[in-house]
Amino acid sequence: MSVRSTAAATAASIARFGIQRVLHRRGGSIPGIIALRLDPGILREMAPLFAASVVVTGTNGKTTTTNLLADCLAADGTCVITNRAGNNMEAGIAGAILEDRRRARAARGASGPAAIGCFECDELYTARVLPKLKPTYLVLLNLFRDQLDRYGEIDHTQDVIAGALASSPATTLIYNADDPLCAAIARRVENPTIAFGFAATAAGDEEPDKVSDSRFCAVCNAPLTYEYVLYGQLGSYRCPTCGWQRPDLAFAVTSVETTEDGQRFTLEARDAARAGFPCTAHIAYHGLYMVYNAMAALTAATLMGADGARFQQTLDRYQPARGRMQKLTVKGRKLLVNLAKNPVGFDRIIQIIQATEARACAFYINDKDADGHDISWIYDVDFERLARMRGLTVYAGGTRAEDLQVRLKYAGVPSTVVRSAEEAINRAASAGIGAADTLYIVGNYTATLELCDELDRLPAGETPQGVRTHAAADALCADDAAWARWSLVGRGTIAPLYRELAARPLTICHLYPQELNLYGDTGNVAILAARCAWRGIPVRVTTLNRGEAADLSGVDIAVIGGGADRDQLAVQHELMRHREAVDRYLNHDKGAMLAICGGYQLLGRHYFLGDEKIEGLGVIGIETRRADNPTDRLIGNVAVRADIVDADILGFENHGGRTYLDADEAPLGTSVVAGTGNNGTDGYEGIVHHGLVGTYFHGPVLSKNPALADWLIAWALRRRGIEKPLEALTDTEEAGARRAFEKKLPHRA
Ligand code: GLN
Repeated sequence: MSVRSTAAATAASIARFGIQRVLHRRGGSIPGIIALRLDPGILREMAPLFAASVVVTGTNGKTTTTNLLADCLAADGTCVITNRAGNNMEAGIAGAILEDRRRARAARGASGPAAIGCFECDELYTARVLPKLKPTYLVLLNLFRDQLDRYGEIDHTQDVIAGALASSPATTLIYNADDPLCAAIARRVENPTIAFGFAATAAGDEEPDKVSDSRFCAVCNAPLTYEYVLYGQLGSYRCPTCGWQRPDLAFAVTSVETTEDGQRFTLEARDAARAGFPCTAHIAYHGLYMVYNAMAALTAATLMGADGARFQQTLDRYQPARGRMQKLTVKGRKLLVNLAKNPVGFDRIIQIIQATEARACAFYINDKDADGHDISWIYDVDFERLARMRGLTVYAGGTRAEDLQVRLKYAGVPSTVVRSAEEAINRAASAGIGAADTLYIVGNYTATLELCDELDRLPAGETPQGVRTHAAADALCADDAAWARWSLVGRGTIAPLYRELAARPLTICHLYPQELNLYGDTGNVAILAARCAWRGIPVRVTTLNRGEAADLSGVDIAVIGGGADRDQLAVQHELMRHREAVDRYLNHDKGAMLAICGGYQLLGRHYFLGDEKIEGLGVIGIETRRADNPTDRLIGNVAVRADIVDADILGFENHGGRTYLDADEAPLGTSVVAGTGNNGTDGYEGIVHHGLVGTYFHGPVLSKNPALADWLIAWALRRRGIEKPLEALTDTEEAGARRAFEKKLPHRA
């Protein structure tokens, strides 16, 4: 190593010694950060320590896959250097190598280095790590919407990973071909590639998730069709327009069987002569995503020369990292603690909660820096699946407990706010959840870290102290009548005032729910429907999908959500065909409409994206332009003052486009109190145009602004001849979420 690198390594060692021995804390990334400050090229200097190295990236499963892979590789005594603790940025990887560099040097044989490097890497940090480490393999697990306030849009993450691979042309990409977003990267890079995935024989009858992050062909942007879907956008897909399809699998899981304590699966290699294959193994965890993790780890381990005969031994010995499907006993209660930080991850654990007929679960959502400040995505989680379970007790915790409680309320799942894991354990005990029942504790990133720390401090065996529950929510869960009260559409009784709507209920039409639904925008539809149903207003929800004729004549409230630039492009041709229908609905019939972000932009004349231009419907007087640099986005919490409702409108924005209103249009937000709004310069946010509310607010916007939901409902009712003011709803949870959110806003004017 150079003098500079040696000095950086020494400084990192001193820092680690100080933190661990003197302060008795875990080192975290600090030693690596110090080393990088002193020598930004230290990773490049250390790369020759390895005979081979592998980097694991992707949205979900990085830690589990990396740890399994490291265990597999080390099973025959090979020296494996890894960042097991999950510090997955450049500093975490550099720190892990620095800490273990002596071991790597000691493993050197006469023919050169013998150690193997095995590192988990954050998706965006592949751009920093790959050009320096030049790993033998990059394992790409999946790409789902996650922390979009940090990543922008998924296209950007794809660009970063493809760029990283281009900077290390000899790296072989081992990728999940079931994910069209990963396959699209494999298609565009020149690196050697190896595909893994699920064969048709292993695909069961999975209920598809609400959200899919890839619906369009990576080659021609036409809609993809699926032979089968595993979850999210994972499955066997094909583009009927240009023929692009899931690449052939070099390694495929050909069968999966659920056992009482996990899953048995068979992994086959296309290369029939490969030793150790087909390989049948058992993993002591439920959930198909665990099979994906195991498949990725076993595939990479095989390619790196690990002995297939040892796989089962590795899986049996596998100890999950903290908070990754971790089974614990605390205060005499069985707990299963799991990290879930995005809709797809949450949906997986919800499926397990359903499948195991759990009786209690506690969800914790934090919005700290490492989590992302935007939590709108909780509306993309299919919590509605839990509403179908009777007798389930649910707790909501974390720094955004109140928002979570509102989300659960609109899913038909009453919950109680808790401030800690211990409070959930105690409350579950006093709500009659037995010691034999598993309490699921699920949190996003920092929430899980905090929960694990808290649970470490609690005793294993003590009987919990009962506490009195202040809200009736615990009891509500077991009571059928209570469920009916929370139920959404069509099950309540019609209030006398709205009897004339019985023949034709108030109709909410959701435009392109599949394509334009970012940051939980679909939640707006559920919120409108619920607020009607709770008042005894007969209501129904319809959808307008691709390929369908737009008849908006029977519609009372139209809703269109946001979308990534790519999704907007894909929907735009469709929407243009309905230009006249939308124009008539808005400008002639003066129908109520809510248009969010990408949907709002599409109603204007144009959306300019550098050299490209998306033609809009031109039914309202706005123009949108993306900043010259596509990563220059307006992201963060927003509050605006508005004329049409009394309270400030609160929400979250994340957009590259800047929108400007024509002089004769009126903004929704007349002055921006915090955040940026339409364009960050004129102090306006959104638009009010007859019955249309167009806005950049996600959240979803109506979750925190029930007055805005009621403005739309009242507008729609007036068009149906009902002028009487709407009956007030209690909105206690919403008020709690607003209070909690307001504290987060930067200093308010
Ligand atoms: N793609 C659009 C933009 O970035 C809209 C984004 C969104 O709907 N959140 O401006």
